[in-house]
Amino acid sequence: AKQGGKNNITFYSPEMNAVDAARSSIEKHLRGALERKELSLVYQPLHDLGGGLAGVEALLRWHSPALGHVPPASFIPVAEDTGLILPIGQHVIQEACRQLAAWRQAGTDIARVSINVSPAQFAQEDFVDVVRRALHRHRLEGRELELELTERMIIRDVDAVSRKLSELRALGIRISIDDFGTGNSALNYLMTLPVTTLKVDQAFIQALDRQPGAYRVVQAIVALGHALGMDVVAEGVETPAQLLQVRELGCERTQGFLLGRPVRPEALLGPRD
Ligand code: C2E
Ligand code: CA
Ligand code: CA
Ligand code: CA
Repeated sequence: AKQGGKNNITFYSPEMNAVDAARSSIEKHLRGALERKELSLVYQPLHDLGGGLAGVEALLRWHSPALGHVPPASFIPVAEDTGLILPIGQHVIQEACRQLAAWRQAGTDIARVSINVSPAQFAQEDFVDVVRRALHRHRLEGRELELELTERMIIRDVDAVSRKLSELRALGIRISIDDFGTGNSALNYLMTLPVTTLKVDQAFIQALDRQPGAYRVVQAIVALGHALGMDVVAEGVETPAQLLQVRELGCERTQGFLLGRPVRPEALLGPRD
């Protein structure tokens, strides 16, 4: 292929159209997906240093009759752009709390559920109330909940964010910064906001096997988190060598395909031995 600017345009525009078409198809089918009960949650275990179950992370799954299984990386951005993330996100909070209470009832002792929160969802004026009501309805305590936020929402409106996070912390809810290290934002928010957890992005964990610098980077993140009184989660642990290294580095919690894939809630039923 020729390398001219003009050729680039003609080369890329059909691809852009394909992406746009895929997005609008996702949007079309995502509308009403919640009501049609096409969305569900799977849960991935987090382990503590001793290898015990420290909790689970709720992850959305969408099975569309028309499109098949659509990964969150494809439909969450569309849900965010269209506002559909608001009812979907509310449902996730309700459903994850209901599930934790149901596990409890069934005798399965899962200490905490972690929930991913989108920026638009967190920005809602009544976000804290929604969470508080879900806890109350299912008779859960705040410490049984962890909210995973990303840096891009933290740096938005610092005053409002700070107020909401303080209210959530007052309820005992843990606040985790997801994908930490990829947000290319300043770190000053860490000084003032009541964050409890840094979740090291899985790109760094997977680089441990391949890139000599990765070990030092994770080491620095762990040191930063610990200096600020936070705990550090290593996610995306796929190999025994990575697990060994993140334990050695002092990450309090680990998560990844090596330790457990996301599973249907039924798979976690029953008392553990
Ligand atoms: P995330 O919050 O960073 O979630 C971790 C993702 O990494 C999940 O992908 C999980 O299945 C995957 N993962 C876990 N362990 C490993 C591993 O060892 N290796 C590899 N390669 N991957 C691993 P998933 O479920 O496809 O979710 C993708 C993203 O979609 C999530 O990234 C999160 O940003 C978003 N998402 C998922 N569920 C929700 C939700 O309920 N609400 C919101 N707002 N976003 C969600
Ligand atoms: Ca997450
Ligand atoms: Ca993550
Ligand atoms: Ca992510």
